[in-house]
Amino acid sequence: MKKITLILCFLGSLQILFAQQTEWNSSRILLEIQKLNTTGSVLYIAAHPDDENTRLITYLANEKKVRTGYLSLTRGDGGQNLVGDEQGAYLGLIRTQELLAARRTDGGEQFFTRAVDFGYSKSATETFTKWPHDSILSDVVWVIRNFKPDVIIMRFPPDERAGHGQHAVSGIIAEEAFAAAADPTKFPEQLKYVSVWQTQRLFLNNSTWWDKDLPNKIANGEKNLAWLDVGGYNNLLGKSYGEIAAESRTNHKSQGFGSTPTRGEQKEYLELKNGTPFSNNDIFEGISTTWERYRQGGEIKIALDKIITEYNVLQPEKSVDALLKVYTQLENTPADQLVEFKKQQLQNIIVACLGLWLEPVAEKDMVVQWEKLKIFSTAIKRNEYPLTLESITVLDKEYKAGEILPVGINQIDSFEIMIDNRISSSPYWLEENYDGLFSVSDQKLRGKAENDPALAFIYNVRIGEQLFKIKRAVVFKETDAIKGELYKPLSIIPEVYIKLDQNNIFLKEDAPSEIIFNVHANRDISNMPITIRTDNNIEQNSEKVFVTLNKGESQNYKFTVKPNGEITNLKFFKVRSDTLIIFDENDYSERHVNIETYIEVGANYTIDYDHIPRQVVFEEASVKLIKTDIVIPQIKIAYVEGAGDKVDESLQQIGLNITTITPESITLAELKKYDAVVIGVRAYNTSKPLADNQNILMQYVNDGGLVITQYNTNWDMYTENIGPYPFKIKRGRVTDENSPVDFLLPEHNVLNTPNKITKQDFDGWIQERGIYFAEDLAPEYATPLAFTDPNEKPQNGSLIIADYGKGAFIYTGIAFFRELPAGVPGAYRLFVNLLSYKNQSK
Ligand SMILES: [Zn+2]
Repeated sequence: MKKITLILCFLGSLQILFAQQTEWNSSRILLEIQKLNTTGSVLYIAAHPDDENTRLITYLANEKKVRTGYLSLTRGDGGQNLVGDEQGAYLGLIRTQELLAARRTDGGEQFFTRAVDFGYSKSATETFTKWPHDSILSDVVWVIRNFKPDVIIMRFPPDERAGHGQHAVSGIIAEEAFAAAADPTKFPEQLKYVSVWQTQRLFLNNSTWWDKDLPNKIANGEKNLAWLDVGGYNNLLGKSYGEIAAESRTNHKSQGFGSTPTRGEQKEYLELKNGTPFSNNDIFEGISTTWERYRQGGEIKIALDKIITEYNVLQPEKSVDALLKVYTQLENTPADQLVEFKKQQLQNIIVACLGLWLEPVAEKDMVVQWEKLKIFSTAIKRNEYPLTLESITVLDKEYKAGEILPVGINQIDSFEIMIDNRISSSPYWLEENYDGLFSVSDQKLRGKAENDPALAFIYNVRIGEQLFKIKRAVVFKETDAIKGELYKPLSIIPEVYIKLDQNNIFLKEDAPSEIIFNVHANRDISNMPITIRTDNNIEQNSEKVFVTLNKGESQNYKFTVKPNGEITNLKFFKVRSDTLIIFDENDYSERHVNIETYIEVGANYTIDYDHIPRQVVFEEASVKLIKTDIVIPQIKIAYVEGAGDKVDESLQQIGLNITTITPESITLAELKKYDAVVIGVRAYNTSKPLADNQNILMQYVNDGGLVITQYNTNWDMYTENIGPYPFKIKRGRVTDENSPVDFLLPEHNVLNTPNKITKQDFDGWIQERGIYFAEDLAPEYATPLAFTDPNEKPQNGSLIIADYGKGAFIYTGIAFFRELPAGVPGAYRLFVNLLSYKNQSK
């Protein structure tokens, strides 16, 4: 019995948060009953949010009506961000939510492994140097053993044809997991919770990108190759699958994947890679996708067929009696993961048939740990079918109600709940430090797309003979005068947190420096000691500051530090004098010991965009101390906003004089206030006004100014003429962050003034050297640097410099937007040199 509960915590949590916002009209209910009557399942596997074939998922979920999951190895942490300046795990959070929004649209479910997306990788071999093979395989096997798909479809072939190394790995791991999930000697520790599973067939979602000959192979009746027309139309949804797929794909807003619907025939090719051969162009051939796969399941099928035939669009509640009988039949079917899933699906259908609205709404969206929270619960039934709200369970405590709900009248109850330490809202995979893999020690959390809601109400509702436990997340909602009703998830915030306005602090040679930090109190605190600790390389600092603040107040405090090594991480701790009680195992007498405990004081980071639910991350408060000697020039710099990056803030932190300006505000007079103008990343992809003002930028250069343009993607540019002389942005990139560097022009100013650049300046970089390099250069461009990826030729397009008129122009694909916020000293020294560059021909 325990096993089932555990399986349910893994699979039963999907889409609770926004479930009520989904429209449950009569035709949707009918479609869901049809899905209930189908028992097949498909798991689609690829590497990133946006790799998935949304058309195929939409078709499988709504036309074939099978349970359809997408397992993305990563959360897309290493991608680009078109909506803001988040990178890394924060971007992964945005893309996780975009993927969940896509699944709410196309009817699929979402899973992940612990793999951290580290950006573009040219080979599977490189990818496996960062991802521990067995851990990734274990996670995919875990999802298969939980989801128990009849069919697995992999997006990418397990070889070079996949392109991106992470794509190839998704194919390799899918092939291995197909066998490993069925093998009890593989990952036996999982078998406490799940049973082994043999999927019937493994397909490659083949494409004419990889195999131009596919249509001919189909025409020639090649065995084990199926094709599907996924372009059909669904009467109940009033849309074709191509239309729904476009809506689903448009959720990938951070990737700029706004899509236009396609209508009409759309072919998808599925090539059998492993499992049972088939002949009839039917990927489920020989697999029962009806209730007949269960002994006595035939009766469930007969009952559901009848409910579908007799379904009354005007009065869905007329189906409830028959649906309740099906629920009893399901309870009498031997429990497995599919039956449990179907019971949940059926419960949702019955609730929808009754027009039952259950919603716990908190008085505020952010609540402090150990505070009492007022919650108002609304229950309303909107048709005649009788039902009783027996009780409401919150945090294992049952509150009796025992009310027969009247029709059309809101039943409002108020609650006051203590937010104790069982409740957390920070993303589970970011709780511990990580490198190539997110660290998730609890096996049961692995695979889950997101946390369960921080706080949920269980409504115990009796409908007929059946007592249903209906789970609803506690939410906050407010009314915006323009956007209307807005929902927010409940976020739990700590009693006290630290705000740091920078991630990196640059310290001069062994001199003591001040670390200034801001403490914010969410409750009254008095004389609370805070101290700092470090991983390594710092003189042990035992000093404490004592904080006294009223609720809602913030104040700055400081420490003095002196680092010994090159780089060190500094963390903030709250010190608490505590009494530790030690029980003696044998005689149960206790001993009291006074100790000082160190509790991490966190920092909060909030991600708030219109297209996804707000995310609040609570993480450790830390700064990186970097010992370096950068010569900082006294110049004035304008930073033109691009698609979003943290380059301007990062440059400010080392003491450069930076003013951020908008592309719209560019005039020659404005630019001439500055010694240099830096263009933010992808500015020509996102700003038409910048392209319109291109001639002003070049005039500024001609008159003696310096323009440094960071990378743009080579498609969708408002203008491609972004320099004084021709060059093309292409897809050249160097993805190995440790790849060797060559100084092609060792005497060039940018390698010598004011900072002498050496090969050591290219140590300790993250993710990559650079992307979207320049090619087809006019002869006026100098190329001082070359980077070389493993097994490739050197590339010299990462940094190109041309003198023009009295000034100069620089284009760079070097990943400064990653390296500067990460505090890489060499990247700072190089960027400062670019800013200091003067036309050498003058
Ligand atoms: Zn991808």
